[in-house]
Amino acid sequence: MTYVITTLCIGSKDASCVEVCPVDAIHPSPEDDVYDEVEQLFIDPKLCIDCDACRTVCPMEAIYTKATVPPEQVPSIQQNAAFYAG
Ligand code: SF4
Repeated sequence: MTYVITTLCIGSKDASCVEVCPVDAIHPSPEDDVYDEVEQLFIDPKLCIDCDACRTVCPMEAIYTKATVPPEQVPSIQQNAAFYAG
C-alpha cells in the first residue's frame, strides 16, 4: 500500500507532512526549487512505509491511503507516482 496526496492539497501546500515523514517520501519541500512550480505535494509510493504521520497533520485532510482515496480522487494515485517517475 501507499499513501496518496489528493488535489485537496492545491491552494495550501502546507508542507507539515514533509516535516513529519520519517523516510523523506514527500516532495517538493518548500526548500526545493520546483516548490513554486507545482500545485500540490506528492508522495513517492516506492518510499512510503505507511506510517500514517502525514495524514494526521494535514490541515486540508488531503491525504488518504491508496485503498481509501475517494472515487473522485482516484487519478491522484497515478499523479503522485508520476511525479517520481523517470
Ligand atoms: S504515510 Fe508515513 S512514510 Fe508514507 S508518506 Fe506519509 S509520513 Fe511518509
